[in-house]
Amino acid sequence: KTDENDDLYEAHELMAKFYRHLLLNTEEGNEALRYLHERGFTEEDIDRFQIGWALPQPEFALNILKKRGFSIERMELAGLLIKNDETGRYFDRFRGRVMFPLHDQKGRVAGFSGRDLHNGQPKYLNSPETPIFHKSSLLYHFNAARTAIKKQKQFILFEGFADVIAAVRAGFDQSVAVMGTALTEEHIRQLKRVSDQAIICYDGDNAGLNAAYKAANMLASHDISVKVTVLPEQLDPDEFIKQKGADAFSAYVKDSSLTFMAFQMDYLKRGKNMRDDEQKFQYIEEVLAEIAGLKKAVERDHYLRRLADEFSLSLQALQEQEKTLFLKKR
Ligand code: ATP
Ligand code: MN
Ligand code: MN
Ligand code: MN
Repeated sequence: KTDENDDLYEAHELMAKFYRHLLLNTEEGNEALRYLHERGFTEEDIDRFQIGWALPQPEFALNILKKRGFSIERMELAGLLIKNDETGRYFDRFRGRVMFPLHDQKGRVAGFSGRDLHNGQPKYLNSPETPIFHKSSLLYHFNAARTAIKKQKQFILFEGFADVIAAVRAGFDQSVAVMGTALTEEHIRQLKRVSDQAIICYDGDNAGLNAAYKAANMLASHDISVKVTVLPEQLDPDEFIKQKGADAFSAYVKDSSLTFMAFQMDYLKRGKNMRDDEQKFQYIEEVLAEIAGLKKAVERDHYLRRLADEFSLSLQALQEQEKTLFLKKR
């Protein structure tokens, strides 16, 4: 069956092959290959994720695509080429970058993300919005992860696709990542078709925690059961795996992931001084509101007790207050 955008997919497949060849088999790819090895990417990773290298030259893709008979205007639409409006000439969007093909949910290469080797700006350059690439719906590694997600009855959501690559190396084939955007309803729609259990494993820094909090709330509101892995020492998953190893990561995800409510209880503490009564009561109120939203009485009871213990409050007082919130929520 043909698709009106077949040429765009074909061009991406073709360029992915060329980028790979440049990385693996040419002198010009050596620095990038060394960079990847230093970061801990193995040959197998490079193979599995079809990682490549775009030469610094501005007319590499241009010449190949021309020679293969692709329409230059279509290639601009595909985001592979850019037109210089002053000169009218076309040049490559991706130059001097490590190239990560972005596969859509059918497994076709629909875009690229290119990483600068030396943290130049932008660190990652993504394909723009095109007829075949939409960053608000593409989940990195989703097509390849589908079988594992079904088998494990769970998906693990990361912030960065470098984290997915490291996590797959560590044995978590059920890993996917958003493409530098917040999680969207469209992402959730796709994921929920495959599993209703999520682990969120975002970067351990502030931005990561805030994004994890938002993502967790969104997933939970779609009746997806959520756990959150908060990484220590502000590490991101890729750094954690590189520093501490795959087994340590595996153990950490399995043993230290928090339930959504436990994560919220930690998260809502942030920026509050618990020795200040007003802020403490504010915190307790916020947590009670969340507890009131839990469906299962046993869970509500569990977290009420935890709150009572932590602040040496009577369970009865908390239950009473929670009940008023609970009734309001109905
Ligand atoms: P690395 O380990 O290579 O530094 P990372 O995954 O840790 O990468 P983060 O800065 O944590 O990178 O960003 C997470 C994700 O956000 C990236 O995978 C990428 O999709 C996106 N991203 C980051 N910086 C940019 C940027 N400048 N432009 C577009 N997307 C970006
Ligand atoms: Mn980050
Ligand atoms: Mn990161
Ligand atoms: Mn990283």
